[in-house]
Amino acid sequence: KPDLAAKIALRLKLAKPAPVVHALDDVSLSILAGEVVGLVGESGCGKSTLGRVIAGITSPSAGHVFWKGMNRDAMTGRQRHELGLATQMIFQNPMAALNPRMTVEDLIWEAPHTHGLARGSERGAYVDKYLTLAGFDPAMKKRFPHQFSGGQRQRVNIARALAVQPKFLVCDESVAALDVSIQAQVINLFMELRDKLDLTYLFVSHDLGVVEHISDRVAIMYLGRIVEEAPVEEIFRRANHPYTKALLAEVPRIETGKRRFKAVEGELPSPLNPPKGCHFHPRCPLAMARCREEVPLKKEIAPGHFSACHLNS
Ligand code: SF4
Repeated sequence: KPDLAAKIALRLKLAKPAPVVHALDDVSLSILAGEVVGLVGESGCGKSTLGRVIAGITSPSAGHVFWKGMNRDAMTGRQRHELGLATQMIFQNPMAALNPRMTVEDLIWEAPHTHGLARGSERGAYVDKYLTLAGFDPAMKKRFPHQFSGGQRQRVNIARALAVQPKFLVCDESVAALDVSIQAQVINLFMELRDKLDLTYLFVSHDLGVVEHISDRVAIMYLGRIVEEAPVEEIFRRANHPYTKALLAEVPRIETGKRRFKAVEGELPSPLNPPKGCHFHPRCPLAMARCREEVPLKKEIAPGHFSACHLNS
């Protein structure tokens, strides 16, 4: 049985903008070592916030994140430092993460040098190794980020994250800004790296079509709550939650590029004033009176397949 890489049980209130926003509401998620978990939902649903909490960039207001059974809040400074290196985040916009005044070589070398992961004499070989792993030609390492395409910059960004020898990558919409053909290349790269470096991923995306190709398991998020969670093939063959079904309807068919059905109707309500009961009820075609009052609890409807909908009870 694989080790548990991370177990998350938390609630997060954001103080800004006032009044307090419940960005995450009783979220719980376990990720096994070596697993790729896709976290999917519309923009503003809280998935990026959850990614940032897991990566240690944002602190939850209640609840805990456990790493290999250890509560992050109870770790020593040294353990937290090691966890910080072991958990890296790759964002949507590589330019925002890359200092435009530094060459690619300096960008890759900066963190491993600062953290003593390699000696100065190893610099050239170390940088070349991680650029090669990320599919970037080391012969171009003396150039600056603006001299490259979006796809190449994202490869530099990936090499930069890999250079601190992480075990867990949080990819936050990491391919969303790339052309479709480049998206496929970068997703393939993530899959190769998983095998070569024994990585675990949380892959955050608004697009179920993207996570389908990389994930072992998928968690669907709606307005701060995980509403369905299952192995990827279960989600695609036997989706249970009406919101997941609506999202699936938006995934274009690969053969035709056409959407299967109509898109999710209506706007995502504001997290400042979420609807009572099931947050999805104003948009749900199957909503009942009970859905407007009672929060549906997550229930295991098949082995490893959880859904939070009153239609299951
Ligand atoms: Fe729809 Fe009710 Fe299920 Fe929510 S609980 S998804 S409103 S049927």
